[in-house]
Amino acid sequence: MEENIKTRVVGVDISNELTTFAIVDIRGNIIAEDSFVTIDYQDVNNFVSTLSERIVSLVEEHVGYEKIRSVGVSCPSASFISGNVVNAPNLPWKGVIPMAAMLRDRLGLAVALANDAHVSALGERTFGSAHGMKDFIVINIGVGLGSCFFSNGHEHQGFEGFAGEIGHTCVVGNGRVCGCGKKGCLEAYVAAKGIIRTAQELMEASNEPSLMRDLEKLTPRTITECCNKGDAMAIEVYRRTGHMFGVGLANYASIVDPQAIILTGGISHAGKWLLDPTRESFEDNIFGNMKGKVKIIVSQLDDRERDVLGASALAWEVPEYSLFK
Ligand SMILES: [Zn+2]
Repeated sequence: MEENIKTRVVGVDISNELTTFAIVDIRGNIIAEDSFVTIDYQDVNNFVSTLSERIVSLVEEHVGYEKIRSVGVSCPSASFISGNVVNAPNLPWKGVIPMAAMLRDRLGLAVALANDAHVSALGERTFGSAHGMKDFIVINIGVGLGSCFFSNGHEHQGFEGFAGEIGHTCVVGNGRVCGCGKKGCLEAYVAAKGIIRTAQELMEASNEPSLMRDLEKLTPRTITECCNKGDAMAIEVYRRTGHMFGVGLANYASIVDPQAIILTGGISHAGKWLLDPTRESFEDNIFGNMKGKVKIIVSQLDDRERDVLGASALAWEVPEYSLFK
């Protein structure tokens, strides 16, 4: 009977730039992988049709449809509880998209959907730095600032499935306007746009020379390169960013009491320029009993690979279902 056991799942990572999908075996080995550009599909029906067709071709070419147990999907602003993608600010499709149901109908397989932060955390727990941990926080710092935390071995979803929106907690009363429409959100200071804005404010506030003034494009990455060359103003950008980030993480950790906070996403690669001030501010602001106890670490996994593997781990969490048994 061994040939009837389904030993493969499909992990899908829908991100703002690329949609990546992979066939993954029970041990987390990627058997085959492919991807396409997400924003080429402005209509969600075309997107879902293409994704389904591409998954079926990959599966038929490599392992056969009958070996696939289920599908796990990571997408920004998605809820595991409803299976919907809700008002994703950086995706082309607006409103409420029943992504899990749409894919299930076209693929004929069980589909689990969760938001990118939730899936990153699953990836870290199953294959990365959070392996063996029961209480931890995973933060994604990039275009936005998302998070997910595990408590006693389980991810905390919240009532609607949107728990962990640390990016939209207020850190400055009446502060910078955030993309969500509120003022003073942490994301407006420590995600990509916030870091760029801090750099612009510093440059405007003085005539001090800085390599940042000569940059063709001001981005977190080019600011980090200026830091690496010893540029004082660029270092100050990350010092301020880290200070704010440390306050936000200390508030978060004071509520959750995690063993570790794992940083993922593009800006987590800013290295010591961000990490040193973040850790210092974190220790200054954390509740006393937790001082010196919570590790802040940068993920050791490649972001895209972790999210595809995390989505595959999610696929094992749904009951098996097949339309074509
Ligand atoms: Zn906000």
